Amino acid sequence: MTRGADSARGRASVPLVSDTHADKRPLLEGERTRLLARIDELTVGGVVDLEFDDDFADRGQVASEQGENRSLADALEAQLARVDAAIARLDDGTYGACIVCGGRIGADRLEAMPATDRCIDHATASPRRLGS
Ligand SMILES: [Zn+2]
Repeated sequence: MTRGADSARGRASVPLVSDTHADKRPLLEGERTRLLARIDELTVGGVVDLEFDDDFADRGQVASEQGENRSLADALEAQLARVDAAIARLDDGTYGACIVCGGRIGADRLEAMPATDRCIDHATASPRRLGS
């Protein structure tokens, strides 16, 4: 077997990620639109269901579905807030910096999670804002 290929493996053309992260904006805005539509579905559905008033059992059922929708909507709204914040950071030029240490967030991490605001070292920190 020949090993001639080794020397040819120089640096492949790795695309440089621009510091402006301009490519992330359409990703974030796309996600924002999806989240808004989903939240709209969930919350509008909850309001409409309130009209079930004549059957107590059904009301209980509806209430529990509303509770599920509500917690799902809450989770989506939390994600929406992260996406909004990421878009705001794109606007003010701080996008891509960890909010904990100020270091740069890895490009592949931003690729996977465009709305993230923490570097890999701080990713496991509690997402809760309160406390500590
Ligand atoms: Zn960090």
